[in-house]
Amino acid sequence: MPSLSEETKGRIDHLEPGSVIGIVGGGQLGRMMALSARYHGFRIGVLDPTPDAPAAQVADFQETADYDDLDAIKRLADRSDVLTYEFENVDADALDQVRDRVAIPQGTDLLRVTQDRVHEKTFINRHGIDTAPWKQVDGLEQLDSALKELGMPAVLKTRTGGYDGHGQAVLRTKEDLQALQARMKGRDFPPSVLEGFVDFAFEASILVSGNGKDYVTFPMVRNEHRHNILHMTLAPAQVEPEMADRARDMALTLADGFKLAGTLALELFVMSDGGLVVNELAPRPHNSGHYTIEACSMDQFDAHVRGIAGWPLPNPRLLSPAVMVNVLGQHVAPVRRLLGEHPEWYLHDYGKAEVRTDRKMGHLTVLTDDLEQTAKDLEATGCWSDLG
Ligand code: AMP
Repeated sequence: MPSLSEETKGRIDHLEPGSVIGIVGGGQLGRMMALSARYHGFRIGVLDPTPDAPAAQVADFQETADYDDLDAIKRLADRSDVLTYEFENVDADALDQVRDRVAIPQGTDLLRVTQDRVHEKTFINRHGIDTAPWKQVDGLEQLDSALKELGMPAVLKTRTGGYDGHGQAVLRTKEDLQALQARMKGRDFPPSVLEGFVDFAFEASILVSGNGKDYVTFPMVRNEHRHNILHMTLAPAQVEPEMADRARDMALTLADGFKLAGTLALELFVMSDGGLVVNELAPRPHNSGHYTIEACSMDQFDAHVRGIAGWPLPNPRLLSPAVMVNVLGQHVAPVRRLLGEHPEWYLHDYGKAEVRTDRKMGHLTVLTDDLEQTAKDLEATGCWSDLG
């Protein structure tokens, strides 16, 4: 596992307004980061292969190239004072090669840990925090012995590259295992982990942000997924204060372990006996934190920008409970049709040219005193009826 000892060298004490923040990745997270960076007075550059990417629409310049194109990363680094990223599957080695050209306050070990499930779970467990029981699995024989140990059902996940449920297989029965064995015949078995199936009561998450020295947390929220994609976030999660405190302590422990600069998300499983299990980490602002834009005194993107800029971080206060719902490709038309009837909908559109089914096109947030009722009211509009 990467050591974190070198990680403070890319930090800066206080980035002056007018400085340039380069963002690797030009999607919606980069866009909302860029909007925050903009009003703090920073200039923004974006690296993304798609011309006029969502973040580039609100940035000063775009390097149009693949995320792992070293020459393009060097060009972005040379034009920036600070480099950050909007997703975890960035080539950490490529970023290391430009560390003499530009500050990378988040470091690259945070990336190396969070983009590999074995490193990530080892890191989490080493800090005394629970994950699902897991075993490293590099071939079919190891899968057999891991299954004997963990039992079925179990979830097989690739070590790297998975997101939103991609690169996963749930093994519930012998037949599932046989089907997987047949699929893998003659193919290379990807480095994987096998996780015990967690019979959670619900899914939750918590965000923590840091500037390398001090760390602040956002409220624990409840998440509803549909077809492995986040559908809705209810903020705050209706849990005992003791549980919220435990989630907060876990977030602060991991933030300190990383000497975190920027925003980190912990995805959690909440057990019916009150246990909290970390599913995975995201070293960046997170879809479940979009509600913070309207509902908190400082949002997750501001916290990210302030954190990487070495600015002090105020404690984010929840100003109002809120419900956030994603607008996927198939929801764009119905949501737009109903927008005129819903002044309470704070709609964010990511500016993506191509509308595709299941593609995250935007989200909307509603501030409310009754989370359950608001969630029901949103479902009752029928805009999300395809999700069941
Ligand atoms: P992930 O790609 O790890 O974020 O997983 C995507 C979704 O699959 C999660 O949000 C859960 O709903 C489900 N899931 C993942 N791992 C497990 C597990 N070990 N047990 C039960 N459900 C899981």
